[in-house]
Amino acid sequence: MPEPVISVSHVSVTYGAGAAASKALDDISTTFDGGEVTLLMGASGSGKSTLLSILGCLRRPDRGSISLMGRDLSHYREKDLVGIRSREIGFVFQFFRLIRSLNALENVSLGLDLAGGKTKSRLSPREALDAVGLTAKRNLRPDQLSGGERQRVAVARALVKAPRVLLADEPTAALDSSTGLQIAELIRALVREHKIATVIATHDPRLIPFGDRIIEMRDGRLVAEQRSTA
Ligand code: ADP
Ligand code: MG
Repeated sequence: MPEPVISVSHVSVTYGAGAAASKALDDISTTFDGGEVTLLMGASGSGKSTLLSILGCLRRPDRGSISLMGRDLSHYREKDLVGIRSREIGFVFQFFRLIRSLNALENVSLGLDLAGGKTKSRLSPREALDAVGLTAKRNLRPDQLSGGERQRVAVARALVKAPRVLLADEPTAALDSSTGLQIAELIRALVREHKIATVIATHDPRLIPFGDRIIEMRDGRLVAEQRSTA
């Protein structure tokens, strides 16, 4: 049975005001289930990153609402959203965003520290690094790792706090093709195992086989949706 984890209802976002106003999201409604990978596809400027920022509670919609595990977040105060972000949402970005002075294990541990003491993690930082195949490299710093290895560390950092939601913005864009596919495969295996609702923004068609669901965006709207039959 699909378990709804996070949903948006009639969400709109406009940047700027007056003549300069531009609508980045236009009345979006959809739900993301645990254990499922959704690919958000569409041309640059279609609204993918903006939708991720709404799902990640980094920005509030101008209209519409967002709910996480049945809780309507619309009226949450900023400090409560900070807690939601740090405990329940994992982020993976294009350029990894690791701390240069920390080694791989310390970078992953940071994901847990930021989530605070209340999180009951399913994984220790060491186990998270094992899960992404970096046991032997745990003492190396980001500049001693390849691009693919850095992105693995970033995936481990996002997953160590056992988030309900994993959001990734172009996570393979800075990687060569085969490394990118390995990262996509790794993310899919981990989110299935941990039943995490996962949304990946990408315009890389090679990732299509990794999506359980593909959503096509255009001009801030969801214009097509397709489910994998595999
Ligand atoms: P995508 O990730 O699909 O490339 P974005 O969500 O980044 O799309 O952008 C959607 C639209 O919103 C684009 O027209 C973009 O120019 C505009 N936009 C995004 N961020 C901002 C911002 N901070 N200020 C003004 N306009 C923005
Ligand atoms: Mg983007």
